[in-house]
Amino acid sequence: MPLLEVDELSISFNQYSKGFKKSDLKVIQNLTMSIDKGEVVAVVGSSGSGKSLLAHAILGILPSNANISGTIKYDGDELTQKKRTDMQGDEIALVPQSVNFLDPLMKTGAQVRLAAKKKDAIGAQRRVFDQYHLDRNAEKLYPFQLSGGMTRRVLVSTAVISEAKVIIADEPTPGLDPVVVKEALSSIRELADNGSAVMLITHDIGSALSIADKIAVFYAGTTVEIATVKDFYGKGEALRHPYSKALWRALP
Ligand code: ADP
Ligand code: MG
Repeated sequence: MPLLEVDELSISFNQYSKGFKKSDLKVIQNLTMSIDKGEVVAVVGSSGSGKSLLAHAILGILPSNANISGTIKYDGDELTQKKRTDMQGDEIALVPQSVNFLDPLMKTGAQVRLAAKKKDAIGAQRRVFDQYHLDRNAEKLYPFQLSGGMTRRVLVSTAVISEAKVIIADEPTPGLDPVVVKEALSSIRELADNGSAVMLITHDIGSALSIADKIAVFYAGTTVEIATVKDFYGKGEALRHPYSKALWRALP
């Protein structure tokens, strides 16, 4: 049974002109997908196609001018907006694309510890920092003192320490050196192997396929193709959507 189910999700934004509502900007349209326990589903799509919005909708953190319809279920239960927000970081964790999710006035170690479930938060935070090659000094730094790569590793650490059952990683690896990218991806795989359901949002088709079980091709706000990695490789030119074919041709 799927741990996370998104059914017929649509999201649009109210647009105003001179104070009057002018139109609806439709971004996500009739999107349906699901992720099983132990599974990594890669959501691959071009920039601006609505991938981050999908992540934010699942977490209940859409901006106030967004209209949302459809259902999102966790472990078979439909999630209301309130439930989704309450589950943030607890059952469902986000590795955000934007660094604005970090509190600029709080040291990184303390921020990551806030997400820890166990009593020994310091021990847990140091273990996860070790895993992501963040040294002892890093926990005492404020976000503005971190390099781009360190910031990404702190964001991943926050989700990992939460031991959430659903992890949504929104482009977690830009700006990281290849060795760390590989390690970050294998620890994302490990989260799934330990029983989490993982959504890996990326536009890097190569790294997506290296760890995912399934690929959901996202185009203009909806999934145009959902296939196992094996089928995706095998079908090639027989894939349904032109964008899927273009992705397949772009494989390394
Ligand atoms: P992706 O993550 O796939 O690159 P996003 O989910 O960030 O794309 O954005 C999808 C689209 O939604 C973009 O065209 C963006 O301009 C639009 N959008 C996002 N937030 C808002 C907002 N608050 N008001 C209006 N449009 C928005
Ligand atoms: Mg995005």
